[in-house]
Amino acid sequence: MGMKKIIIIALIVTVAVGLGVKFWPKHPTTFNVANKTQGQASNKTNTPASTFDKTQYSTTDPSSIWVVVNKQHPLIPKNYVPADLVVPAVPLRVPGNESMQVRQVTAIALQTMFAAAKAQGINLMLSSGYRSFAYQTALYNGYVKTQGQAVADTQSARPGFSEHQTGLAADIEPTSEQCDVDPCFGNLPEGKWLAANAYKYGFIIRYTPGNQAITGYVAEAWHVRYVGTALSNEMRSTGIETLEQFFNISGGPNY
Ligand SMILES: [Zn+2]
Repeated sequence: MGMKKIIIIALIVTVAVGLGVKFWPKHPTTFNVANKTQGQASNKTNTPASTFDKTQYSTTDPSSIWVVVNKQHPLIPKNYVPADLVVPAVPLRVPGNESMQVRQVTAIALQTMFAAAKAQGINLMLSSGYRSFAYQTALYNGYVKTQGQAVADTQSARPGFSEHQTGLAADIEPTSEQCDVDPCFGNLPEGKWLAANAYKYGFIIRYTPGNQAITGYVAEAWHVRYVGTALSNEMRSTGIETLEQFFNISGGPNY
């Protein structure tokens, strides 16, 4: 090998290394991101969040704040009535109506949440809370009569399968009654406030977009479910949106 060839090879190597140096930083960056993610993940195992006790409350007892009610899991018994129904001290859509009641824990949380919202210029109202087996029967049969069972099943839970019967669920609307039980609620300041803040008061938005195959329902920006702040915070921090996923419980659109 002559000196010229060696010089040429040396030049090529130098250029190649130079290019490599230019391009390599991408890889260390990637590794840094990966390491960081791993670091965060391992940190997470040391935080109380990961030691969250998912068996702390029953998911089948209808009186449990963690009960999971969906089309695969009716209330047991189906005619369950909560023992501590009260009318919360918040604006009510239909004062005097049975559906203006919720369970005691839900009432306290609603009152706290509505007061916090009001302090920020967001005026909320209870549209519908507790619905009895009989109430749900009438509601569901009304849909069946006018639209047929197939359509009714997409719009209303069958009696014994409604989360509203637990006294832990509430449909919320603005006091203006704008977008009552309507997808447009999610675009109102009230709907956005609820989505951003409900977890602070122990509520989750029960039916979120893209999860119909899991929950059995299309998104309902107005429907909150009381689960307590421990669970609502845990679901928020882990990014798990549905009770079905969190507790690994079956659900979906079929009865
Ligand atoms: Zn609802």
